[in-house]
Parts: sequence; structure tokens; C-alpha cells
Amino acid sequence: MADNLSRKVTPEIIKRLEDAIGAENVNTSDMERILYCHDLAPMPKEAGLGFNMIPDVVVRPKTVGDVVNIVRIAAKTGVAITPRGASTWGLGGCMPTAAGIVVDFSSGLDQVYEIDETNMCVKVGAGCTWKKVYEACAKKGLLVGSYPSSFPSATVGGWISTGGIGPGGFKYGSARDSILNMEVVLPNGKLMNTGFEKVANNMSGYNLNQLFSGAEGTLGLIATVTLRVHPMGVIKPLAYDFENLRDMGGPINEIVKHPSVKPLHIAWSDYMHFEHQRKAGLHAPDVKNLFLVTLQGDAEFVALEEKIIDAIVEKFGGKKISAEIAEHEWEERCYEFRARKVGIGSIPAEVVVQNIHWSDFVDECYAGFGKMKMAGGGIIGMIADRSTAMFMPYYFMDTETPLGMTAFAYNFYMGERAKKYGGRSLGLGVFFAFNLDVIRDANSAEYMRELKALTDPNDIINPGHLVCGKTRFGINMGHQLMGAMSKLMQLVKTFMPGDNGFEDSVKRFKFDEIEEHKGQTRKVKL
Ligand SMILES: Cc1cc2nc3c(=O)[nH]c(=O)nc-3n(C[C@H](O)[C@H](O)[C@H](O)COP(=O)(O)OP(=O)(O)OC[C@H]3O[C@@H](n4cnc5c(N)ncnc54)[C@H](O)[C@@H]3O)c2cc1C
Repeated sequence: MADNLSRKVTPEIIKRLEDAIGAENVNTSDMERILYCHDLAPMPKEAGLGFNMIPDVVVRPKTVGDVVNIVRIAAKTGVAITPRGASTWGLGGCMPTAAGIVVDFSSGLDQVYEIDETNMCVKVGAGCTWKKVYEACAKKGLLVGSYPSSFPSATVGGWISTGGIGPGGFKYGSARDSILNMEVVLPNGKLMNTGFEKVANNMSGYNLNQLFSGAEGTLGLIATVTLRVHPMGVIKPLAYDFENLRDMGGPINEIVKHPSVKPLHIAWSDYMHFEHQRKAGLHAPDVKNLFLVTLQGDAEFVALEEKIIDAIVEKFGGKKISAEIAEHEWEERCYEFRARKVGIGSIPAEVVVQNIHWSDFVDECYAGFGKMKMAGGGIIGMIADRSTAMFMPYYFMDTETPLGMTAFAYNFYMGERAKKYGGRSLGLGVFFAFNLDVIRDANSAEYMRELKALTDPNDIINPGHLVCGKTRFGINMGHQLMGAMSKLMQLVKTFMPGDNGFEDSVKRFKFDEIEEHKGQTRKVKL
């Protein structure tokens, strides 16, 4: 039974948390609370006028039992809980909207518990980074199918919760396709298994592994995850240079329809991306527009796939480039935004479109940079599956002024353009929650809201996210209001002077030891 549902974190609740999980894992310092009030998206302090985004307390569970105890306390008192991985998402997913408790999974539940080579699976804490699990499995000759390109810091629970698309996904699907089981703590504090630890989920019954994937932490807290892994074999990246980015549309559409060729990863980076790396003082390969196709598996099959891909790419005018560059770009797959070493924010607009429209959408990305007067960073992306391409055109923005935030107009704009090509923008979080009613039919949006209301009647788990973006005054940021705001933001952006933050920052750039060290982490030197 609930004690009080005032949503207020009282000293008594703090005491209960300390007794349950240890005082050293409960933090109420002002500094800590401010650090935990947003995710990767920089928020001007004015955002606090709209959202109750500074949590009352930050907790760090070390065990599954700790997560259960935290949720039970919140369920009894009506306090909001915001689950948080590494906060590398940019849509405010782990930004509190009703203060309360932030549960930081990255510092305690971050272990690889078991690699089962017989049953080909690995069990990890939800706060384990993709890099940690990838490297632990690789040492045993096992491959984690897919992961986000933020894998050095992004957590397993975080990426599953966003239902994202990442390297390895073309062959092995997204994270949701690799889940065997998750231990999830429900809004009432009960612990549930979503699947089976060592065998597939296939049978009748609702697919709970899939339900929590993409739920953005609104249905429960993922405490552990068991993922399927694959025999590593060899990994062979191939790189090709194209005079024009749009010309890659031909080979992409031929490769995705091939009955036998199934690359691990298909990706591209345009000339702007490399130009910015050079301007930022980084080594970049001597290419114009780079097409990267990475093969994986048995060496003989990989050699056969390579021949087929070489022939397809040649037919469309692509030029094969050295194995050294290919290897370098594969190693760089998780460090795409190095050009921000000049000290400026870079943000991608993440959208999916149908592969068949790939070349036309390239034109849209460039046109969007011009129309929105962006400091365009580059056009990068990857093929998600046989019908879907994920574009991440990114730009540089000034994160120090509220007006710099108008750069987000490009994300709204590209999301709208993607619709014309059978696609949409990715992710909802707080700022794009209104999109639920735009991208889904009315009945499916209603079904999701009913599911949330039924399973979390007091709205304690990540309130104000995904199914409804709400301000601190209870104003629903619905699609009419946000649609109008998005249009207004786009209009304002077109009237403002063009962004030139990158060039300014290059001039201002000072030697930075941390950035220098990050450069040194590049395994393949050109
Ligand atoms: C350089 C860079 C590259 C990126 N590349 C990709 C990419 O290739 N593909 C892609 O899809 N995204 C990408 N992203 C976006 C982002 O990194 C991913 O979505 C990432 O996996 C989020 O993980 P996180 O641990 O940082 O989650 P957070 O940002 O902390 O949280 C994301 C969401 O998950 C919820 N959540 C976190 N942990 C839990 C949990 N244990 N239980 C329940 N809910 C939880 C949060 O409440 C929030 O709604 C990239 C971002 C950056 C900065």
C-alpha cells in the first residue's frame, strides 16, 4: 500500500533509501543533482522553468535486490524514478521531469556476470557498457551482434531502452533481436524475467523481451540482460571511394537484395566529415566519400562475399581503396564525432528512410543544411536492414547560448522530410514525445498509453516521457503545440544569421591534453 503519493522526497524517504542500499550509494549533494539533470543534449538553465529536471536524489544500485528495494520505496511514496545509463542519448530520455530519484545503472550494475560458451550467451548488468561486453566476448572468440556507435560509454540497458540501430545490425538485427532474457523491476517493485536465460523465447505468449526494448524506461527498470552471441570468425572491412555521395545508392540497393551476401555493417561518411576532421587537426584518410562494407564469418565465405561486393561497387563507379584505410574506418566506427575536439557541440539528426530512396535523401540532407543555415558537419549513417537506412547528418552548434538551441530546428526539419521517403525521426524521449501521435496510428498510440497507465497507475517510472511529454505545470506537450513550436523554430532559424561555430572554434582552439589522448586511442594510424 502507498504511504503518501505527494511525489515529494522527504528526509524520511532518503533514510529509507540509505537503509535499503547503503548510505554510500545515495547522493543528495547539489553538485551531483545538477550533473544528473540532463543527458547528452545540453540544456540551457532556462529549461528549468519548464521541467522539474533536477532530481532530489541520485542512487547507485549495486545488485538486482537494490533495484527492487529502490522501486518498492518509490512505489509506496509516489516518488518519480528516472532510469539512467550513460546519458549518451540526446532526447532527454534520462532527464527527470518530476525530480525524484535518478537511478544510475552505470556505476554499480556494470559487470559481465557470465559468458556461456556452450549456450552462446552472455549475462551482464544493465549498466555494463557495450565496449566492456564486446571486448570480454571477443577474448573468447565470440561476437556481440550489434551495439551503438557510442559503445565506449553507452550501456546495455540504455541502448535496449531506445531500440536503436547500430553497427552489426545489418547482419544480426538490433539489440532487441539478441535478447534472451532480462530481469526487469516493474513499477510495483516486482522482479520479472522477460524471457529465458539459455534458450530462445519462441512460443506463444507476449514477447516481453521486445516489449521493454524501445520502452525508453517507461515500463520498468532493466536490471540484467542476457544476450545471444555468435562465433567471431574473421572480420574484414572493405572501403571504397565515390566521387559523389549519392552514387552509393546503387550498390547499397544491390547489396541489400543479394540472396547470399550479408555484410556485418554497411556505412558511409561524406567528404564534409573528413574535411572537418582535417580542419580539426586530425588525420583523415585521403578520400572523398567513403563507403564501408564490413564482412564477418568464415574466411572462405568472406573472400567470396568480397569478390561479389567488389564487382557490384565497381559497376557503380566506386573505387576500392587500401585495406589500411578500411581497417582504420572500421576502428573509427564508434568515434564518428572526433571533429568536435575543436570544442563545439555536434548533434546528429537521426532519421530512417527506405533504402530505395537513399540517393534522393542524400540530396535532402545537404539541402536541409542550406535551408536551415547550419554549420553542417557531415552526412554519415548505416544500413539497418534490407529496407531501412539510418541517416545521421550532423552539425555543429553553439551550446553556450539559448539561441544556439535553435539548431535543433534541423532535427525537426529532417524528421519531416524523412516522412516523404517512407521514414521518420528516431526516438521520442521528452522533446519528441509528441511524435508518438504523428508516427503511429491513433489506436496504437492509445494502446501504448493504456498499457503505461495500467502497469504504472501512479506514473512513477520515467514520467513525462515517450507516451506524453509534460512540463512541470502539467501542460501536455502534445503534437499540436509541439508541431506549431517546431514550425516556429524552423522559421526563426531560417531568419537568423547562418551558424559558423566550427570555423570560430578552430580559431579559438587550444591544445587540449584530453582530446590529444582520445586521438591516441585510434588503433590504426594513417
Ligand atoms: C557519439 C554517439 C554515437 C551514437 N551512436 C548511436 C548509434 O549508433 N545507434 C543508436 O541507436 N544510438 C546512438 N547514439 C545514441 C545513444 O548513445 C544510444 O541511444 C545509447 O545506447 C544510449 O545508452 P545510454 O546508456 O547512454 O542511455 P541513456 O542516455 O542513459 O538512457 C537512454 C534511455 O534509456 C533509459 N534507460 C537507461 N538505462 C535503463 C535501464 N537500466 N532500465 C530502463 N531504462 C533505462 C533512460 O531512461 C532513457 O530513456 C549515439 C550517441 C552518441 C553520443
